[in-house]
Amino acid sequence: MTNEEVWQAVLAQIQLTVSPANFTTWFKSTNIVSINEGGVVISVSNSFVKEWLEQKYQKQILKILHTINEDIREIIFLVKKDAVKIQKDPVVVSAKNNTRLEGVGQLGFEEFKISKESNLNPKYCFDNFIVGPYNELAHAASWAVAKNPGTAYNPLFIYGGVGLGKTHLLQAAGNEIANKYPDKKVKYIPTEKFTSEIISSIKNGEMESLKAKYHDISVLIIDDIQFLANKEKTQEEFFHIFNSLYNKNKQIILSSDRAPKAIPALTERLRSRFEGGMIADVSLPDYETRLAILKAKCQQMSLNFPDDVLSFIASNVQSNIRELEGALTKLAAHVKFQNVSPDTEICKAVLLSLTPKKVISLKKVIQGVTEFYDLKEKDLMSSSRKKEIVKPRQVIMYLLREELKASFPFIGRKLGDKDHTTVIHAYKKIASEIKLNEGLQEEINLLKQKIYNS
Ligand code: ADP
Ligand code: MG
Repeated sequence: MTNEEVWQAVLAQIQLTVSPANFTTWFKSTNIVSINEGGVVISVSNSFVKEWLEQKYQKQILKILHTINEDIREIIFLVKKDAVKIQKDPVVVSAKNNTRLEGVGQLGFEEFKISKESNLNPKYCFDNFIVGPYNELAHAASWAVAKNPGTAYNPLFIYGGVGLGKTHLLQAAGNEIANKYPDKKVKYIPTEKFTSEIISSIKNGEMESLKAKYHDISVLIIDDIQFLANKEKTQEEFFHIFNSLYNKNKQIILSSDRAPKAIPALTERLRSRFEGGMIADVSLPDYETRLAILKAKCQQMSLNFPDDVLSFIASNVQSNIRELEGALTKLAAHVKFQNVSPDTEICKAVLLSLTPKKVISLKKVIQGVTEFYDLKEKDLMSSSRKKEIVKPRQVIMYLLREELKASFPFIGRKLGDKDHTTVIHAYKKIASEIKLNEGLQEEINLLKQKIYNS
């Protein structure tokens, strides 16, 4: 048996015991470098994978190897250094721009170059993306699309709340494709930018040349597509661009903060296009995954924090991954500049002082609901019976009761002097519908996340 065959035999067995997404994350670029005097050297792509395999899979791998060759007694994981791929015509930005802390540049962030052509940032890749039960499907779908663009799932639609890794996944898929197929033209664009391109092209009579620009794209990635809500003209132009690419089997990848059916005022034909491919959601990460993400970030930033500190952060920062990263950076800055060694007491103090407890107010709930459903505040206050206003009004009454514990008469007064019986009716209606309608339940969860993160 060659080393390659031995390793394939090991992987075949491991594959039976782990989820496909985990298998991809931890085993995709591993192989056996050598087998010598009972020792096997396995190469892995980075030090995080190395640590993970050592902790979680070492025994299992050794056991399988032992059944193949009795002499094998030891395995060693070795990180192979990947050459950094420099993109054409780069613009320099730094990951440190992502944080508002001064002096964090000294904490060992890498510099990344955003490609002018594709608009992709190479810092987002599959190698540094941690997979857990909450994002397994979205990861597996993005991975499949990156392997076979235009054929696996088209379009791929990923949705979920803020700071949960949607942009990361979209860009990782784009980077993977750009690296693997250098002749494919990949383009990443946030919806706001896409919309303003279309508006200014219409204004200047340059729509044809804009369309021509999109026609020879092989992979179009549009982030935060919920911002197309109520932009009829943009939706119309986008529909044509979408169709023309789709008909040529070009890959389209989209993200949104909610499912297609929950995007307000999205034309029916676009909605059915979005629903015609693969839809995958990302929910909230569980404790284990939060801890794994913290460990990975520590590796990347060369931070050496004790396990109890990381557990403390993972237990206390639950809202999203952006906040998790923020907590780690804040602690890193504190430890470095105060020249102290990190322990849970310091960690507690830093987190408490820097993240005041989130309280939500009536104003925040109103703002969250009007933005989410793309309404005006006066619509909520009105007595309009239009369906697209009645539902958000019932939802806000429900939320004010559930989240603020406000009294029914108070809620009625604040929402345009409604009778408290109207509020009770609305509350009961949503509370019972939520139990039966998973879509509504998910919609309200996303809305809550939005309000608590605002
Ligand atoms: P979203 O687009 O959903 O708002 P982002 O993709 O911008 O979220 O993610 C926020 C931050 O968290 C980014 O710095 C991203 O790299 C990081 N992040 C998100 N998910 C993961 C993950 N699963 N593993 C590692 N880092 C992650
Ligand atoms: Mg994003």
